[in-house]
Amino acid sequence: MINPQTATCLVDGKVYAISDGLFLSDLEPKLANIIRNDYPKATKNSFICNPHLLTYRLERMRRQQRQDARAHDKINRKMSQALVKDNFQLTNVYDNMEATITFGERIADAVAKYAGSWPFIIIFSGFMIVWMILNTVGIFGAKFDPFPFILLNLFLSMIAALQAPLIMISQNRAAEYDRLEAKNDYHVNLKSEEEIRLLHSKLDHIISDDNPNLFESQRLTVEVLGEMVNQLTETRQQLELLKATQDQANKDIAIDQKNKTNE
Ligand SMILES: [Zn+2]
Repeated sequence: MINPQTATCLVDGKVYAISDGLFLSDLEPKLANIIRNDYPKATKNSFICNPHLLTYRLERMRRQQRQDARAHDKINRKMSQALVKDNFQLTNVYDNMEATITFGERIADAVAKYAGSWPFIIIFSGFMIVWMILNTVGIFGAKFDPFPFILLNLFLSMIAALQAPLIMISQNRAAEYDRLEAKNDYHVNLKSEEEIRLLHSKLDHIISDDNPNLFESQRLTVEVLGEMVNQLTETRQQLELLKATQDQANKDIAIDQKNKTNE
């Protein structure tokens, strides 16, 4: 018959007092599963002694840490992979545009810049007024373009005809610049979005897995420490008992010797 106060350890098959170990039903499920993996025949009522339990607890912590490290690696790998994608390549728009600009485009830019300024309007208005005064009054005695200033009109039409395409060239370049900038912005946005997503998954991982795992490790540590303290206390009690027995034996021997000498 099995004594109800003792149980057989499923690892080494030795008999222990129930206080020297735990039943699998009292263990947390993950730890019990690790033990069941090694001993498929183990049931809820199987018993494991404290020293073997300690080994399994340490194994459980090791597995937990390995699992956490793997999860972190996975996220970090995803992050570095995502950030080197072609989608995220940025171009220096200004340098690019400067490198491909032609001589004609440069002139068009300069003309558009000058023609679209107040100095141009003022100087040109001044020129027309002087031209008209000269040809109305005839200061130098000659009216080379009398009223209604047909030559001036011809000049103005020519300038207008040339100015329009030049401004269009310059505007096309500005539009191309804006297009490249927008493309760059789009890539920057994509990259930020991806980074935020990865950061989110990292945060989620920390909140949902790391924190509980950390508490779990602490709990395991405290359990292991508690067991060690229990074992130490037990050992101390046994030592004291042994000492007391020995003292008693020594006293008995001394009394015996005293009795013998008295006789
Ligand atoms: Zn054992």
